[in-house]
Amino acid sequence: MPVPSASAASSSALERYEPVIGLEVHVQLNTASKIFCGCANRFGAPPNSLTCPVCLGLPGALPVLNRAAVDKAMRAARGLNATVNARSIFARKNYFYPDLPKGYQISQYDLPLAEHGGLDVLGKRIGITRLHLEEDAGKNIHEGLPGSDKHSYVDLNRAGVPLVEIVSEPDMRSPEEAFEYLTRLKEIMLYLEVSDCNMEEGSLRCDANVSIRPRGQAQFGTKVEVKNLNSFRYLQRALEYEIERQAEVLDTGGRIGQETRLFQVAENRTASMRSKEHAHDYRYFPEPDLAPLIVSDAWRARVEADLPELPQALRERLQATYGLSVYDAQVLTASRALARYFEQAASGSPNPKAVANWIMGDLLAYAKSVNTGPETVGIPPAHIAELVALIDEGAISGKMAKDVFAAMLAQHEPPRKLVESMGMKQISDTGALDKIIDGVVAAHPQQVAQYRAGKTSLLAFFVGQVMKASRGQAAPALVNELLKKKLG
Ligand code: ADP
Ligand code: ZN
Ligand code: MG
Repeated sequence: MPVPSASAASSSALERYEPVIGLEVHVQLNTASKIFCGCANRFGAPPNSLTCPVCLGLPGALPVLNRAAVDKAMRAARGLNATVNARSIFARKNYFYPDLPKGYQISQYDLPLAEHGGLDVLGKRIGITRLHLEEDAGKNIHEGLPGSDKHSYVDLNRAGVPLVEIVSEPDMRSPEEAFEYLTRLKEIMLYLEVSDCNMEEGSLRCDANVSIRPRGQAQFGTKVEVKNLNSFRYLQRALEYEIERQAEVLDTGGRIGQETRLFQVAENRTASMRSKEHAHDYRYFPEPDLAPLIVSDAWRARVEADLPELPQALRERLQATYGLSVYDAQVLTASRALARYFEQAASGSPNPKAVANWIMGDLLAYAKSVNTGPETVGIPPAHIAELVALIDEGAISGKMAKDVFAAMLAQHEPPRKLVESMGMKQISDTGALDKIIDGVVAAHPQQVAQYRAGKTSLLAFFVGQVMKASRGQAAPALVNELLKKKLG
């Protein structure tokens, strides 16, 4: 069978088949300590330095639930519009793997922490079936260490790190929708400050379930689960490949078998990992070492009261309050810190649109060039508002403002002060300009005659001369007006 390309699902496959996609997303919670012991929850420490009898799975050690993990999981659930269950149950998920010394993972099964959520993506609501709490496993290391040609290593620092697993309904219909869903989900987790969602470090992980069905058919096709999607790009590429592959199987009279496949980055394809016959039977049963998790109404109310404004609501409010476009609101809410910065600058300004433009333009460009956020380059938000005011007052021209901005970056001084110390004040005093204009007019009698004979395009020449004579400090609009009067 020819190997389909992963570049994009071919249009003919998508004409005939409709993809159905559901995502399972794991988010590591950024608690100080692990979920069932007091070990630090931290990435990058020396292997096995953050371990104790509980997370090493030593016999007789007992788990104690970390309330902070529950709190953050509840925040995550509410940010995804899910209902937090008053009572949920921890369960043992049994399987053998070297990074799981207990032989089981403590998770939730029949009664998860939260259910019935949803996320608005591209104008459509994607259902969220459930959100449950569980512990992360350790990490097996197969390369990069001395002797790893012969041996594998196990690092258990990650064992017991709190996770929420967020399972969506099979509501997505294209790789783009899946990409967007994950984007929005990550954004919400960042706004809630429950995780750093760093995909390279594994604090945000995603498995995709995908099937296709002939367009017009109500019944879903058999799904395939794709793992190892550790970037947004891989998610989209793997789905595109998988849709194409499934279409080809069906087109050549084959059947899709339920299986788990791995995305292989280098080959840009998915490959079978295990089929249904080899699917795990996890033999879930209630965890006997932990009591049911009871969430009181008061606890729920506390979490509710502590929720920040979420990105979508914030975007709508910025549009309504400051007259921003959908696009501007999107750019300015890329992070909570940036949005806060914009609001601090705009709230005191009569010209919030210009404030937005300076932040999205010069400030963001500079911040990108030094690899930081605009809110941390050392320009207080009030200074942006002041710069805009200087332009609007006619004290400086837009061109001068660029130089003032450069000085703001270098000296961190208020723009009004910089304008003075740089001797930059724009000349918008009619008397002073009149004198300069008279000089220019007197010095160019020939051009004046040409202008008066109808060659009005010479106005630009005169404006240029006046700007030069004022060393760039004349207010251009006023110069235009005064010149026209004088020459006309
Ligand atoms: P399993 O029993 O294999 O765990 P679930 O019904 O719990 O399957 O669903 C797991 C994930 O697969 C969910 O995200 C769900 O949305 C998705 N899913 C279920 N059925 C399909 C399907 N036919 N096509 C695509 N995704 C599906
Ligand atoms: Zn521990
Ligand atoms: Mg399931």
